[in-house]
Amino acid sequence: MTRQSADLNAPCGTCGGPGTGGFTQIAENGLLRWELGEGCDRCLVQGCDRGRGAGPADLRAELLAQHGAYRLSVPEGTRGVAKVLRDVLGLSLSEAQEAARALRGPGYEGTCVELTLVAELLDVAGPVSTRDR
Ligand SMILES: [Zn+2]
Repeated sequence: MTRQSADLNAPCGTCGGPGTGGFTQIAENGLLRWELGEGCDRCLVQGCDRGRGAGPADLRAELLAQHGAYRLSVPEGTRGVAKVLRDVLGLSLSEAQEAARALRGPGYEGTCVELTLVAELLDVAGPVSTRDR
């Protein structure tokens, strides 16, 4: 299982106090899913949500901001790239074809969890952090 979390510090939607929470992407059993937990210590409001796929765009962006983007490349001739991208990331056909071209060329960027799962399913070497260069 691969997982990565971003701390969320948005103000509480109920009382305006300092909110606490986290957004987590999880790759498990070949599937990508996400969990969101939010809470407020002042009014004790709690919320949580979860779903399949990469998660809401704004929360995914927070994950990328806190941990940095990762980049994955696959060797020429790797099969089933577009299908795996569609299955894991929920891309449209044209988006998946574009992403597959990037994977075979300069590399495709995403979160560590997303690309680790894609690499596992394609049986290729895992992604590298774009911050480590
Ligand atoms: Zn509150």
